[in-house]
Amino acid sequence: MHCPFCGTQDTKVIDSRLVADGASVRRRRECAECKERFTTFETAELVMPRVIKSDGTREPFNEDKLRNGLLRALEKRPVSLEAMEQAIQNVKSALRATGEREITSQVIGGLVMENLKAIDKVAYIRFASVYRAFDDIREFGEEIARLND
Ligand SMILES: [Zn+2]
Repeated sequence: MHCPFCGTQDTKVIDSRLVADGASVRRRRECAECKERFTTFETAELVMPRVIKSDGTREPFNEDKLRNGLLRALEKRPVSLEAMEQAIQNVKSALRATGEREITSQVIGGLVMENLKAIDKVAYIRFASVYRAFDDIREFGEEIARLND
């Protein structure tokens, strides 16, 4: 860690403690050269897993893409943007909670559907019909029937 005062590379940690309920580490450092002291914070970076697409290729998780999909499903539905953003956050938290570095698009689709189902059944069906590409109308009907359970 370079000293922010003189730029030397030689700094040492003189104190280290957990802060924010252990979510980050606060370190006091001292420069061996100019003796200035400074503080650094270390926090785990919450990285989203990469997405494994159905053709096997990988791509970075794309929140905008997820949002666009939801906006399309929720078009003209009585659902607030806030509820939609909450659904996005739910999906992201669930993905991070897996601890996986890569995750299939099916898993993500499943999480989205689960969340949509809870906020708007029509949006859920719209999303599911695009996403799952129901093979026939009967399968689609069965899915709708299950909603009434
Ligand atoms: Zn220094």
